Amino acid sequence: MKRIGLFGGSFDPVHCGHLLMARAAMEEAQLERMIFIPAAQSPFKPGGSNTPAVLRGAMLRQALAGQTQFEVDELEMHRGGVSYTIDTVQEFQRRHPDAHFWYIIGADHVPLLTKWREAEKLASLVEFLVIPRPGEPTTPLSEPFRGQVLRGFPFGVSSTIIRERVKAGLPIDHLVPPVVVETIRNNRLYL
Ligand code: ATP
Repeated sequence: MKRIGLFGGSFDPVHCGHLLMARAAMEEAQLERMIFIPAAQSPFKPGGSNTPAVLRGAMLRQALAGQTQFEVDELEMHRGGVSYTIDTVQEFQRRHPDAHFWYIIGADHVPLLTKWREAEKLASLVEFLVIPRPGEPTTPLSEPFRGQVLRGFPFGVSSTIIRERVKAGLPIDHLVPPVVVETIRNNRLYL
């Protein structure tokens, strides 16, 4: 049975915390592939993002270039509207009926899981891999959710911090991959 990780997020922009999460999940849960899924619009960020989806997707592809176990799937962007994980997971199950799926989340999302659309059904379809997030308590998963909390490589950076630093004119080197620094600069994002 194939062991596939699914990693949804806004990725506005992708940062090294995301990349370290994916690395930890691959190693600790012995996954074969990790599929990054940029959201069209997060249900938890109703204002949406000003960053064109095409640029969020491009930065993600650039950040993952050449890493064959990591891929980007833009199905949520193509579907448009608010992106619900249940729809995405069901689509992946149709595509790969022989696979087992793990869904990667940061510790800050554990208390929100019961609010995710069709949470009970989602809980029956995937196991969750929770990555500790500095500054956020790590609460264990509770019924009906299954999965495990990983050690991870705790790294206290968020996309919000990246956007704030760009706006303030502070460097973001080493917090995001160099190619993402370049794309942010070339497209005058987050100013
Ligand atoms: P923002 O600051 O805009 O809210 P974010 O940094 O939380 O963005 P998202 O793309 O919204 O990034 O997050 C996707 C997933 O990655 C979420 O499950 C989030 O909890 C998790 N995540 C992001 N950064 C980290 C981190 N440094 N450590 C652990 N989990 C993280």
